[in-house]
Amino acid sequence: MAETILVLNAGSSSIKFELFDIGPEDRLASRFSGQIEGIGVRPRLVAASRSGERLVDRTLALENAADVETAMTVVETWLGETLDAAPIAVGHRVVHGGPVHAAPVVVDERVLATLETFVPLAPLHQPNNLAPIRSLFRRRPELLQIACFDTAFHRGHPELADRFAIPEALWEEGIRRYGFHGLSYEYIAAKLPEIAPELAPGKVIVAHLGSGCSMCALRAGRSVESTMGFTALDGLPMGTRPGQLDAGVVLHLLTAKAMAPVALQHFLYHECGLKGLSGISNDVRVLLASADPRAKRALDFFTYKIAQMTGWLAAALEGLDGFVFTAGIGENSATIREAVAHRLAWLGVKLDPHANAVHGPLISAPESRIRVYVVPTDEELMIARHTLALLRRRPTGEPA
Ligand code: AMP
Repeated sequence: MAETILVLNAGSSSIKFELFDIGPEDRLASRFSGQIEGIGVRPRLVAASRSGERLVDRTLALENAADVETAMTVVETWLGETLDAAPIAVGHRVVHGGPVHAAPVVVDERVLATLETFVPLAPLHQPNNLAPIRSLFRRRPELLQIACFDTAFHRGHPELADRFAIPEALWEEGIRRYGFHGLSYEYIAAKLPEIAPELAPGKVIVAHLGSGCSMCALRAGRSVESTMGFTALDGLPMGTRPGQLDAGVVLHLLTAKAMAPVALQHFLYHECGLKGLSGISNDVRVLLASADPRAKRALDFFTYKIAQMTGWLAAALEGLDGFVFTAGIGENSATIREAVAHRLAWLGVKLDPHANAVHGPLISAPESRIRVYVVPTDEELMIARHTLALLRRRPTGEPA
């Protein structure tokens, strides 16, 4: 049997996992993926092979998956029953690597302690990302664990891009723009030489439009600017997050409306964005199917902001050669792509309607000044690649 790498992506209510076989010349191939969803509410374990064959679909007793920690035990047990050998390493998605981590890292107690200091920077995500690492440390100390960060790909930004106009002492404390979705952007940057070799060395904007949304400016495959900043609240409007918001609005909610900080946090992460603006849904599919004018307004706002931020990022790049759509909305919604392209006509963007309808990959018309692509992202594969690369760089015999 081939050696394998396990990729884990733990959120507040789910643990996603994917197992990769390491083939000849270290080629990685997904064997299966799955998740425990509804942790703490109605937990369910599902997994399917790459060909779509269902491997498990089991409702779990609440007490067996009451939190990420206990749910992790269920994943481990199922993997133990399913695999004839343990994975040679586990790659974890960790949202925040702080100012220090510009690359994936082998996690030991010291690294874990550092990653815990970043919890205040990502209070909703970081604790869940770290829980399975800690739990595996306890139960499987021999297992090599590698943390891959959503912030790392952006650490090469010019310092100006990462600054806020606030006193220097706060920059020193880590109050700076980090950028997120880095694993997705890194995957796209690695894919461009194959799919769009003419764009790979150029100035490209990638729009990751999924349940979270952000955009990244790439110059020769490196991130130089991102619409997300200190937290994953900034930039584009998302399903339930507002995106760019005047800090004065937050002050108003805290003072004039006397909102408690915890309620405000919940409001900003879960009640705003397309959901708040439409009053209907956070799901672009539902909004597209709705005849309600509030749905149209929310989608108009969404595409308007994508177009606006394109100008912002093009200014950082001092030009623009290409534009890439990715993630759930970017990969699947020809209508949203068409609406964005329409707003970017002034830049010389023109889509080929047929290519757009069939999701590309190249969706711009031959006469378009900007080449536009749809490129499906694969953050799990990126994590598996990083994990394998770090594994291969480690001298053999070194303890994990
Ligand atoms: P992701 O976070 O990349 O998995 O993307 C999830 C989001 O993609 C969900 O919020 C869905 O609303 C959206 N999505 C998936 N399929 C479509 C589609 N065909 N049209 C519009 N949005 C879609």
